[in-house]
Amino acid sequence: MKIILAEHLGMCFGVRDAIALALQQAATQPLTVLGELVHNEAVLASLLQRGIRIERDPATVTTPAVMITAHGASQRMMNQVRERGLNVTEATCPLVQFAHRAVSRLVDEGYHPVIVGKRDHVEVRGLTEDLKEFDVVLAETDVDGLQERPRFGIAAQTTQPVERVRHLVFLIRQRFRRSEVRFIDTVCQPTKQRQTAAIELAQQSDVVIVIGGAQSNNTRELVETCSRYCARVHHVQTAADLRCEWFAGTETVGITAGTSTPDVAVQAVELRVRQIASDLLSSPQDRRQNGESGFYAVSSPSPRDEGVGRGTGRGEVPVNTGQKRPQPVQGTPLPGPLPAAQGEGIRGAVCVVSNTSDAREEHSAHLIQSPQ
Ligand code: SF4
Repeated sequence: MKIILAEHLGMCFGVRDAIALALQQAATQPLTVLGELVHNEAVLASLLQRGIRIERDPATVTTPAVMITAHGASQRMMNQVRERGLNVTEATCPLVQFAHRAVSRLVDEGYHPVIVGKRDHVEVRGLTEDLKEFDVVLAETDVDGLQERPRFGIAAQTTQPVERVRHLVFLIRQRFRRSEVRFIDTVCQPTKQRQTAAIELAQQSDVVIVIGGAQSNNTRELVETCSRYCARVHHVQTAADLRCEWFAGTETVGITAGTSTPDVAVQAVELRVRQIASDLLSSPQDRRQNGESGFYAVSSPSPRDEGVGRGTGRGEVPVNTGQKRPQPVQGTPLPGPLPAAQGEGIRGAVCVVSNTSDAREEHSAHLIQSPQ
């Protein structure tokens, strides 16, 4: 089984910096983060363990210091917090700030603002709460509901697939031919890179694993994008969610991850998939299947460790290709059993998953050891 990692995957600089800032602030004073700092359960659990509180409503904050997440917030929201006498630290990603400036500029220049994104998403609320009038569109039917305006100014939630955004801009231009339609592309570069890499990955994979939080918009978008190119796409939050049966008879497994997913989660999933691949080697049924289709054992270096070998298979070491029966792997030993602390083990051809909560705790304990 060949395992490939997307050329671009995992935690973006905006989320990484926000976590580092939260840890720095929390080291000197009690801190409340307003909303989810990152859409990842394990990372959030780590932050809570460090004493960082998370509240959605400014009215319920009891610490003197409050942090705005990388998703940003409206001026109205920040004023509401300051009026309570609280110290506000902004961890707003610079690329979200760019989107705020783009929307302000469009409004100042007389355009009716239209945001491509999810109406109830925290970033979209931040982009729109200060506006008197605006529209939010996500689907073609939303374009049908727009009223004609002389000038439309379109920007997007930073984590939307840019193809969707451009398609909706096209539809708005088609529908309102007499209107002036201006579009400022505010989809962030890390999102674009992950989307493009996910397409390349899905096109060459039999199975794709997308790692990310259940509430992570960009992870769900990656799942949707991969599903257009690969029939077997699975969304997991941690390695504990992987199931052996997903991989039986599979030649190529692709792995990608959303912008909230820490490196350690990607590495744990990669390790687990490799272990499952190793286990399938010992399954008579899969030996037969692999023997019929050729067999690869793959050394797939972590992208962050090596900086090479992602997506295009450059870092892969095909072994024993074209063999009718798998041979012992020379020089590329597959990993042994996972540590007991990860709570999972493989016995013969059967995947035994146990003590899942321990696995998540162990996982989270390593998430914030070295923020950058
Ligand atoms: S997804 Fe993009 S906009 Fe959002 S925090 Fe990451 S880099 Fe910034």
